[in-house]
Amino acid sequence: MAERLNHTERGHLSNEEIAAFIDHQVSSEELDAIIMHVADCPSCRELVARTTMSQIFVEDPASI
Ligand SMILES: [Zn+2]
Repeated sequence: MAERLNHTERGHLSNEEIAAFIDHQVSSEELDAIIMHVADCPSCRELVARTTMSQIFVEDPASI
C-alpha cells in the first residue's frame, strides 16, 4: 500500500511532540509544522485527539 509522501519531511509526530503540543510547550515554528502535519495525517490527528482526551481525564477525574 503506497503511502502519500506529501507529509512534512519530519515524518509522523512523536508522543513527546503531541504532549508538548497539547501543553502549549512548542515553539511557533514547531506549532506550524505540527498543525500542518496533523491537517494532512489522519493517524496523527487521531493520536492528538486521544492524547487530549486522556489528559482531560487525568486533569479532571471528578467529571467521570
Ligand atoms: Zn502523521
